[in-house]
Amino acid sequence: MARVPPSIPILSYHRISALQPDHYMTILPDRFEAILRAVQRHYTFVSLAEIDELLKRARLELPVIGLAFDDSYGCNATYAVPILKALRIPATFFVSSGYVDTDDLMPEDRRRGYSGLRNFTSAELREMVETGLFDVQSHTVSHIDLSRTWDDATVERELVESKRALERITGRPVTRLAIPYGSRAHCSPQAIRIARSVGYERVYSFFGGRNRLTPRSGPGFVLQRIGPVYEDSDFVRACLENYRGRHTRIPLVGRGPRLPAEFHPTCF
Ligand SMILES: [Zn+2]
Repeated sequence: MARVPPSIPILSYHRISALQPDHYMTILPDRFEAILRAVQRHYTFVSLAEIDELLKRARLELPVIGLAFDDSYGCNATYAVPILKALRIPATFFVSSGYVDTDDLMPEDRRRGYSGLRNFTSAELREMVETGLFDVQSHTVSHIDLSRTWDDATVERELVESKRALERITGRPVTRLAIPYGSRAHCSPQAIRIARSVGYERVYSFFGGRNRLTPRSGPGFVLQRIGPVYEDSDFVRACLENYRGRHTRIPLVGRGPRLPAEFHPTCF
């Protein structure tokens, strides 16, 4: 029996859709389903709240993995949600609240000249949360680039107003924040400090790495996520090829636990 790795990866996606499939962040629904089914051969998908609890343990009984979506793409309600429901996969949607119920384009989509990409409606977000399988958390109001220099009041407004707006829409607490763009530079000390001070309990980056079990200290304030894995990635291929039972040759995604020193729990 293969040893269950003492760490938990969190996969992140953006847009699952059959519309405008050439969009740079988009995956076709049937491909997405094939990826999830491959991953499920080795991993059990669990919610981010469950991951918080599991990270406190000394070891895992089974390999587990988390799933998140960023931005505000309404197509996810049409295409991703039915797949996730059918496969009973929990997921967190990190939503930039300023785009909900609008036709506005996300900054990067505007820059790249896209049009007609629809955003979530409040009703969709409410319905998703009411399934009990999904939660909606913050990705700031405007998808602010936190690697730039901002005064504290601006950053605070982005974090507080998105939290309030999404709590108003879903009626559920918003305590998790995915940092837009999510590189080390974007997870600035200012953003982390303010996120903590305005009541977030966990912040998520978007650069590689699995989250190591931390039974002594508990999970750090900042957890790491891994960008989308595609059908042709080594990870998905390994999930398909290595399958001889759940405990045999568990494929690993990401380069192993490597929580940067600046994100160590004691730093915050
Ligand atoms: Zn984003």
